[in-house]
Amino acid sequence: AKNQKSSSYQVFHDSMPVISGAQLTMETWLRYALERGEFELHYQPQLGLRSGCLEGAEALIRWRHPQQGFIPPLDFIPLAEETGLILPIGQWVLETACQQARQWQVKKLSLSHVAVNLSSVQFNQPDLIDCVAQALATNDLHPSQLELEVTETALMQDAAQAVETLNQLKALGIRLSVDDFGTGYSSLSYLKHLPIDTLKIDNCFVRGVTQDTKNQIILQSTIEMAHRLGLSIVAEGVETEPEKTLLVQYHCDFLQGYWIGRPMPAAALEDCLTGQDKV
Ligand code: C2E
Ligand code: CA
Ligand code: CA
Ligand code: CA
Repeated sequence: AKNQKSSSYQVFHDSMPVISGAQLTMETWLRYALERGEFELHYQPQLGLRSGCLEGAEALIRWRHPQQGFIPPLDFIPLAEETGLILPIGQWVLETACQQARQWQVKKLSLSHVAVNLSSVQFNQPDLIDCVAQALATNDLHPSQLELEVTETALMQDAAQAVETLNQLKALGIRLSVDDFGTGYSSLSYLKHLPIDTLKIDNCFVRGVTQDTKNQIILQSTIEMAHRLGLSIVAEGVETEPEKTLLVQYHCDFLQGYWIGRPMPAAALEDCLTGQDKV
């Protein structure tokens, strides 16, 4: 109730009451969404090129609003970050994904990990390590089955603190990846100080790569650099067969994108995995 009061205070003192009013409505909706169970996670498969199998899945949040229908994450995550609501929402994501990963493990599906997106607000939260440890413990999940994705931008906000936080997360035994790699303002030199396992190269380098020689050079050399640093690479946004073929040629490790599979409800991914296991 205290938070709601401070929000309405802001509305009356804002120079743009219309936008604030809309924001307040959205904020109120967001608050209730968690309680009412309006969020769900969809899972997008990651194809391992060495094994030829679906090896991982990225959890992506979806909001089914009773009046507005489906609201995509980019339409509410920024507001959730501004208002701090991303903390309870992020915690729900973490716990739900861990619970799902554990269920898939119990069912002996071949998935080796589930990846969860961490907002920079969560990443800079002092009790992050405890939250992650608790989500693992509550769900009896082996740490290696959880991967956390942190964006380059979040890492660079306070690079020294980021190294410290990543070290603590790594000490839990989880996997760490850098999301949207290549789009932030990071220097490559920091990479060697980070205890990360994977680079997720942003889909802007993959899109139309077959027609774009510069993107070909960027992809090929990023993959080579990652391998020489002992990191694996996920290519995001793989939408066509020729893009896949090129990434296979470049020895990319994992592919994610509509060509491999769209984000889908847990049950649908389970069907894909069961089908795959029978082959
Ligand atoms: P992201 O982490 O870079 O996630 C990848 C986005 O690309 C997803 O959009 C996914 O559906 C989309 N995508 C996957 N394959 C393709 C493809 O082949 N082509 C194209 N055009 N797009 C593809 P989505 O689910 O709308 O999520 C957007 C962003 O919202 C995510 O970008 C992430 O930054 C954020 N997000 C999603 N779920 C969460 C969450 O649980 N927590 C936080 N903090 N952020 C989230
Ligand atoms: Ca991601
Ligand atoms: Ca990404
Ligand atoms: Ca992105």
